[in-house]
Amino acid sequence: MPSETHEFQVEARQLLQLMIHSVYSNKDVFLRELVSNASDALDKLRLEKLWDDTLDADVSDLHIEIDADSDARTLTVRDNGIGMSYDEVGRLIGTIANSGTAKFLHELQEAKNGAETEGLIGQFGVGFYAGFMVADEVTLVTRRAGESQGTRWTSRGEGTYTLETVDDAPQGTSVTLHLKPADPENQLHDYTSPWKIREIVKRYSDFITWPVRMVPDSSATAGEGDEGGEAPEPETLNSMKALWARPRDEVSDDEYHELYKHISHDWRDPLETIRLQAEGTFEYQSLLFLPAHAPHDLFTRDSKRGVQLYVKRVFIMDDCEALLPPYLRFVKGVVDAADLSLNVSREILQQDRHIEMMRRRLTKKVLSTVKDMMAKDNERYATFWREFGTVLKEGLVTDPENRDAVLAVASFASTHHDTEPTTLKQYTERMKDGQDDIYYLTGESRQSIENSPHMEAFRDRGIEVLLLTDPVDEMWTDAVGEYEGKKLRSVAKGQIDLGAEDEETAGAEREKQTEEYAGLLGWMKEQMDEDIKEVRLSSRLTVSPACVVSDAHDLTPALENMYRAMGQ
Ligand code: ADP
Ligand code: MG
Repeated sequence: MPSETHEFQVEARQLLQLMIHSVYSNKDVFLRELVSNASDALDKLRLEKLWDDTLDADVSDLHIEIDADSDARTLTVRDNGIGMSYDEVGRLIGTIANSGTAKFLHELQEAKNGAETEGLIGQFGVGFYAGFMVADEVTLVTRRAGESQGTRWTSRGEGTYTLETVDDAPQGTSVTLHLKPADPENQLHDYTSPWKIREIVKRYSDFITWPVRMVPDSSATAGEGDEGGEAPEPETLNSMKALWARPRDEVSDDEYHELYKHISHDWRDPLETIRLQAEGTFEYQSLLFLPAHAPHDLFTRDSKRGVQLYVKRVFIMDDCEALLPPYLRFVKGVVDAADLSLNVSREILQQDRHIEMMRRRLTKKVLSTVKDMMAKDNERYATFWREFGTVLKEGLVTDPENRDAVLAVASFASTHHDTEPTTLKQYTERMKDGQDDIYYLTGESRQSIENSPHMEAFRDRGIEVLLLTDPVDEMWTDAVGEYEGKKLRSVAKGQIDLGAEDEETAGAEREKQTEEYAGLLGWMKEQMDEDIKEVRLSSRLTVSPACVVSDAHDLTPALENMYRAMGQ
């Protein structure tokens, strides 16, 4: 088949432009990305072979190879993993599938300067395209395991790429970077230098579970004469040690962070690293990470890449949903279990008693870590809650067992302070004498809630009200009902009695007034009979003449809409 020229998808082209003009100052990370992709490809092949042993693929020596040629100024990263079919290359390499990318590119266009752009790139990561930071041409040759024909993809990153079939491609993928001219001023950036390659792999990819080997540079050794005769052996650059199995004091924070980046495809450091080692009848080790930022697809339910499952150091699956409840879906990491079968399936995991125990333990561990963070480092806690609070609150509805633990780390906007959120504990400590309940009001924004007539009497009497603006707030406040014996009450629902001090006189007074106004109230009820249940006098208003409230057990308008949208 002759070579075909294709255009990059618009978003891909924009990203490539950025890479070519390399706004990102830490260019070394291109190698981390290529090694990371190669490692994923090896994991995939090993699994595919496990499930289907008729697959015609050699899995006897799975590894990654880095081959530099200083004369030709090329650097090749090769793996003998799963490879890609012709169609896959076009689909996976020519386009950007990540749902957050559109938003990302939009933000990039808004970015005002280099530093801001760099910050954005660091947030999203660009994977394979990172190669274009250091190369002016990239060639990828690949053959999918089990297929006979290979594919060559070439691009200079300038809007188009070419695809052609090749007959003699080895199984797996090799990516060759035609490096930009070396900067004579800066030897540190010569990516054909064995020293440099060694350093980068050690720094970013040491924990990769497959050997990363460096092939000696034949062009560099040629000048030194052919004394030995035999070609020198490739050198394995990484230790391949599973970080989660190593003692805490042997591993640096940086090493943990690199593992996080490999797993999450996030280019930023995590907010928190959580280690858990369980001994006993069901042994497992785990390293979990709380990211510093919520991904853009957190609420689309197809958000991938949560916790990976390993069995005795062997990768089993990505995004293992059995290991943590959905409201902790933003947690990344690795769980390595000693006593599971290597071909355990998702279905089996969902029912396994040990996995169930593991999930409970990991859940508690994550929640207790957040609690510690809250006690020791309020700023970090605030970051965490800002990014993930909305998701965590789902747990108040779906996980009664840990409801108290989630409530303990939850914080909410409140009339007490314009910007500082409050915990329920702090709220109850500030409650006025005679106040029995915790008051809240839900709505679309802080401002719309504060302008609500329901708030008038509370403001007048200086009673604090929680201002809840997430859709999930409607649900958990109903589900939870009370905190430490104090009822959670919406100021928009039911009868609210604010005057505890003069309750008796108020009661008598109210009765008297109700009699007095009986004619008016009756008339109003008649006028609006279709729409309302009752008209009554209220102590909750001070300025507005009237407001609509629902029964204590009615759905709020927002919830009603939500259920209606769900077809119920
Ligand atoms: P990501 O790794 O975050 O998915 P990349 O841009 O790094 O994004 O890679 C895009 C896709 O290209 C990968 O998801 C994978 O399907 C495919 N790919 C990249 N490198 C390889 C490789 N060495 N072997 C097989 N597939 C690869
Ligand atoms: Mg990648």
